[in-house]
Amino acid sequence: MSEAFSNDPETTAALQRRDAAHHIHPFTDTGALNAEGSRVIVGGDGCWITDSDGNRLLDGMSGLWCVQIGHGRREIADAVHRQMSDLSYYNTFFKTTHKPAIDLAEKLARIAPSHLNHVFFTGSGSESNDTVIRMVRTYWDLKGKPEKKTIISRWNAYHGSTIGGASLGGMRAMHGQGGLPIPGIAFVPQPYWFGEGGELDPDAFGVWAARELAHAIEAHGPEKIAAFIAEPIQGAGGVIIPPETYWPEIKQICDRYDILLVVDEVITGFGRLGKWFGSEVFGLKPDLMPIAKGLSSGYLPIGGVMVSDRVADTFIEEGGEFFHGFTYSGHPACCAAALENLRILEEEGVVERAADIAPYLAERWLALGDHPLVGEARIKGLMGALELVPAKPSRSIRFDNEGEVGTMCRDFSLRNGLVMRAVRDSMIIAPPLVITREEVDELATRARKTLDDTLDKLQRDGRMAQ
Ligand SMILES: *Cc1c(COP(=O)(O)O)cnc(C)c1O
Repeated sequence: MSEAFSNDPETTAALQRRDAAHHIHPFTDTGALNAEGSRVIVGGDGCWITDSDGNRLLDGMSGLWCVQIGHGRREIADAVHRQMSDLSYYNTFFKTTHKPAIDLAEKLARIAPSHLNHVFFTGSGSESNDTVIRMVRTYWDLKGKPEKKTIISRWNAYHGSTIGGASLGGMRAMHGQGGLPIPGIAFVPQPYWFGEGGELDPDAFGVWAARELAHAIEAHGPEKIAAFIAEPIQGAGGVIIPPETYWPEIKQICDRYDILLVVDEVITGFGRLGKWFGSEVFGLKPDLMPIAKGLSSGYLPIGGVMVSDRVADTFIEEGGEFFHGFTYSGHPACCAAALENLRILEEEGVVERAADIAPYLAERWLALGDHPLVGEARIKGLMGALELVPAKPSRSIRFDNEGEVGTMCRDFSLRNGLVMRAVRDSMIIAPPLVITREEVDELATRARKTLDDTLDKLQRDGRMAQ
């Protein structure tokens, strides 16, 4: 990395100019970014990334929640190189297959909960959720219940950015662009106690939020409801960890009304919560389980939908042709990257290591809850959040101009050499699963310095009392 850096004479300013001239960034106000200049990342190694000015940053977000094994593992590059030398591309349409797709499907069936024995490959989490919509609706057609078409999701859920994924997601800002959601998607409240729990205690609120699903099913007519989709813990929505009462109640409701349960494990899959899948942590039995991100640790783009025996048998025995698929479904090089990533996760015990480090990370993270800016610190596995508030301990008094303080804090964090993400006015982390105790200490120290810097600035600006 340092070699690549020292061999590259192009300055950061020149790179930023060329970026601004031609590159429209995702989830970005590109005009504002171009005025400021983007951060140029040139290298990655373990839990660290390096920018074009030579700064090393602790990657508290695993890229975008995906780099389970850390950056820069040579073995993945070698596995992809080998695969591309043998067969760089072939499709899996028209009665063909290849060994990487066979091997990966078999391996996923072994790793996933025991009733999930088939996979439909995609190129991303968004494509996985588009696939979910078509599979869910086709399943009920095949079952002779074509009126069962509506999928219920939750406000502030994130399920991707394609038309289907963004429709399933409950992000109002996304719906506001492009006329979303598509018809046949309904929304219920999220189990976000800190933000929306009102006077209820967390457990009572968890039951209330879950029962909103039953009310929505009754309101639409149970004969019309096809599925409920949810992340075990909402990621992009701000690491929303549901109260313990929530999931048991949801499971009962899905069973009672005979609707499919779709558990979006794009973030929680592959060890993020200290077990292979979040479904194991929360005792869920998904009928469909979208995966991506940690499947390849982000080294190459690949996703999929894990399909339960119940749904797979229906498609295979009664389905005929499923008119759906992507040019890159089961791309051999991406499968090779995923296979090598899974080998590393298994052979190096990375999921167990995540479970081992989680209590220490929790101890250090939760200790930040004593900071005057932090209204709540929460964490499960390797996903954590800090809610920034102006008047602790009130949950209802929030900063004016939502998101501004979060963004300020995020910028301080980068200056302090730590990648945290801001969601509204909360700060979130999801570090690589291979993070060490020393790196956890670094993360906690830099996060506290960042909170101090933010508080100091708010006080100097007169927005918080000295
Ligand atoms: C990131 C994400 C997606 C979308 O995945 P992409 O690969 O970005 O399309 C879907 N669901 C969840 C829960 C995610 O976090």
